[in-house]
Amino acid sequence: MSYESRLRPQNGGTVPLGPYRSSFGSQPWFGEDKDLLDLGATCVGDSALIAGLLEGSPLGRPASRPHLAIKTMELQRMAIAGTAVTESGRDFIRDVIQADLSARRYATVVTRFPPEPNGYLHIGHAKSISLNFGVAEEFGGRCHLRFDDTNPTKEEQEYIDAIERDVRWLGFDWGKHLYYASDYFEQLYAWAEYLILHGKAYVDDQSQEEMRATRGTLTEPGQNSPFRDRSTAENIDLFRRMRAGEFPNGTRVLRAKIDMTSGNINLRDPVLYRILHASHPRTGSNWCIYPSYDFAHGQSDAIESVTHSICTLEFEDHRPLYDWFLDNLPVPSRPKQYEFARLNLSYTVLSKRVLTELVRQHYVSGWDDPRMPTLAGLRRRGVPPAAIRDFVKRVGVAKANSVVDVAMLDFSIREVLNQSASRRMAVLRPLKVVIENYPEQATEELEALNNPEDVNAGVRRIRFSRELYIERDDFMEDPPKKFYRLSPGREVRLRYAYFITCRQAVKNSAGELVELRCTFDPATRGGNTPPDGRKVQATLHWVSAADAITAEVRLYNQLFNRPDPDTRDFSRDLNPASLEVLTNCRLERALASVELGESIQFERQGYFCRDIDSTAERPVFNRTVGLRDTWAKVRTADDRKP
Ligand code: ATP
Ligand code: MG
Repeated sequence: MSYESRLRPQNGGTVPLGPYRSSFGSQPWFGEDKDLLDLGATCVGDSALIAGLLEGSPLGRPASRPHLAIKTMELQRMAIAGTAVTESGRDFIRDVIQADLSARRYATVVTRFPPEPNGYLHIGHAKSISLNFGVAEEFGGRCHLRFDDTNPTKEEQEYIDAIERDVRWLGFDWGKHLYYASDYFEQLYAWAEYLILHGKAYVDDQSQEEMRATRGTLTEPGQNSPFRDRSTAENIDLFRRMRAGEFPNGTRVLRAKIDMTSGNINLRDPVLYRILHASHPRTGSNWCIYPSYDFAHGQSDAIESVTHSICTLEFEDHRPLYDWFLDNLPVPSRPKQYEFARLNLSYTVLSKRVLTELVRQHYVSGWDDPRMPTLAGLRRRGVPPAAIRDFVKRVGVAKANSVVDVAMLDFSIREVLNQSASRRMAVLRPLKVVIENYPEQATEELEALNNPEDVNAGVRRIRFSRELYIERDDFMEDPPKKFYRLSPGREVRLRYAYFITCRQAVKNSAGELVELRCTFDPATRGGNTPPDGRKVQATLHWVSAADAITAEVRLYNQLFNRPDPDTRDFSRDLNPASLEVLTNCRLERALASVELGESIQFERQGYFCRDIDSTAERPVFNRTVGLRDTWAKVRTADDRKP
């Protein structure tokens, strides 16, 4: 069964809900109905599936029922999550490999991940890494890490180091199989001469513009270069002099002699070598001619005995060229290329060019800015590698391009962190509460669970006192109908502590709220229901004023405010609210000793981690991902009622 058909709900439009039902939440940034529809239409890339899901659904009238539209979005996400998991481990690449092994076409599967060291790895690369290393592991083969370092003007050692670090962090290991295309420069050069000697390559003196003008178009054939029929002797002589450094950049290239009238533009005498007087991070000034990607890639695969050369769909049209080189050169092995759909994420740009610009123009603080879709950024944001692996597994491997809803990534992050993260209390926007009937100097310790999902995580002691902080948003002076939290005269539970009742909202002369005067009921110690069976509708988190530490908390939102940012003019689509810095947060004391790399759930807020900018006096925390915010959902729906 193909991946596409598996995505389709199997029995009359029912979607396998699996264990995911409870974890999907609305996202505050799904604000616009139009966005919902756009996203809905692209998130699974399968209009039949969407049509099936929407049949008889309220999405026909989303403007009047936005919360139902959100529900439909959830269904779509579940459709992907559910199906990708129920039949995980099978996709067309794995089917091909299984068939090859069964037919004994290869003794061992060899794959490779071939990054160009011209930027940091992003979550799209994670898909390719997981696929290449994943299939090698599953089928008992090996996966190479090969740097495709053929363009010294853009490549740097910093990127090589970052790529190695990030692949390891993601959980994969190339063992001793670390390679560089530049290791093969001598062999590639010899093969270029081989083509010349066999009349299959020539030196072209045309300028870049002339070559572009004579290449033809998708509908028109190209024209032969006036230099195409040079003698073998002249070609060899010129090519050797190119290597010797006799000519300036851009004056000549070596081209394959294939067919200027081919329907496939890649076969219209592609460039094999260009002159570039530039020092290379690894080969220094040994070379002033460098091979093209196409000329280096397949032959590098062949040198390394790669069996399955897996790449993204944009290389599909290059496959005939990939094969042409292997057919026309005395290569030591015969790899085959397979293409899969690259990962696209809504609200996210995965173009290295754009990511580089974001860094260079200081739209973000660096490659590891937590808003970046880079592995370094995700790591700094607190995303565990297991969540990325889980996410790419759910997305699966398909042959058709699609855009995946970025909320699916959040889903995977929550799934992993929910199991492992310790719970703590942190007040991000503090509002002071004075418990009037609690003795002035008294304090007491109460017990709090470290992780309700993990019985072995134990308990900790938290301090209660007369002055506390609660979240500013947890109080409303004049609450609307569905607001159950604190308001004048209302009683709520403070988590693990007591029931408190708000007696008075104290304001300053400017009319701003400065503190709440409350009373507590000693019979509710531990947050338990009192003997009279009285119930409250809300439980709030809090910290003791005297005991809390002050911290900076950075809240991250999508870097772009459109589901499909314009990659040419991306700055227009940047979200001005992508970073919100809160400098006066009050945290439970236990949060003073969080390790870098440790994930914590701030109760009712989300998952957080300590940032490297932390100092001993002033910890800094990053929000990895929020918890689902049911109140925001209700409010949005209410606001839209006529
Ligand atoms: P560019 O070639 O423009 O610099 P790139 O993203 O293709 O950018 P590479 O370093 O060539 O960067 O990528 C290494 C490998 O990762 C390639 O095999 C490529 O197909 C794969 N890859 C890149 N982007 C994605 C993506 N979004 N989804 C899946 N695989 C990807
Ligand atoms: Mg590439």
